[in-house]
Amino acid sequence: MPFLVERRLKVRMLDLCSISGYLSTNMKIKFPISYLETCREVKTDKKVVSLTFDDGPCIQTPAILDVLKKHNVHAAFFVIGRNIPGNEEILARTAHEGHLVGNHTFVHTPWFHFYSPSKMILDLKKNAETISSVTGQQVQWFRPPYGVGNPMLAKAVGMTGYKVMGWSLRSYDTYLNNSEKVVERVKRLLKPGVVILLHDRCPNTPGVVDEIIQYAGAKGYEFLRPDILFRSF
Ligand SMILES: [Zn+2]
Repeated sequence: MPFLVERRLKVRMLDLCSISGYLSTNMKIKFPISYLETCREVKTDKKVVSLTFDDGPCIQTPAILDVLKKHNVHAAFFVIGRNIPGNEEILARTAHEGHLVGNHTFVHTPWFHFYSPSKMILDLKKNAETISSVTGQQVQWFRPPYGVGNPMLAKAVGMTGYKVMGWSLRSYDTYLNNSEKVVERVKRLLKPGVVILLHDRCPNTPGVVDEIIQYAGAKGYEFLRPDILFRSF
C-alpha cells in the first residue's frame, strides 16, 4: 500500500477509535506513532470516577455548577473560546468553585483538524489567553474537538506542552436527547476509574448530573476532579 494512503488509513482508524471513545490503553501502546498521548481513564479497583463537561460556557452551566456544589463534586469543564464573551461571570465562577477549566479550542470547528500545526497553536493560544484573562489561571489541559487526534494536532500539542484528556464513558447526551436514556447508559457503564463525558450545552444536563451523582454515591463511588484522578492512580 502506498505510504500516504496507508498513513491516511491509520489516521482515519485512529480518529474513529477516538470518536467512539474506544481507544483503550492497550491500543494506545499499538499506535504510539506521533499521535496524541491521551489520559482517558485510570486502572483501579477503587470506586473513583470523574465528570467532564464540554462546549461551554453557556446558559446551562450555572445550573450544572449548582448541582456539583450541592454534592461537593469537582469536575472539569473544557470550554470553547468563542462561547466566553458574555459568559465571563459563568467561567469565573467555574474556576472559583474549584473546577478544572481546560482548552477545547477557540473555534471548535470540524475543520480544526485540517489546520496546520501553527494555525492550531494560534487557536489554542487565543483560547488559553481568553480563559486566563477571566480566571487568572494557566490552562494546562486540552481536549480536542470531537475527541479526534491526528499527527498535525500531535505536533501542535507537543509544541504547546498541553496534557490531553479524553474520556472512557461517553454518555451520548448530544445524540440521545433523552435524560433517562443518558442516565441509564452511564449507570450501566459506570466502573472504577472511568472519566465521563457530558456537555453543558444539552438542556437536560443539570438533571442528568444530579441523577448520576446520586446513583454513583449510593453505590459507594467518589468523584475526583479528573486531573487529580490521573495524578493519584
Ligand atoms: Zn466539543
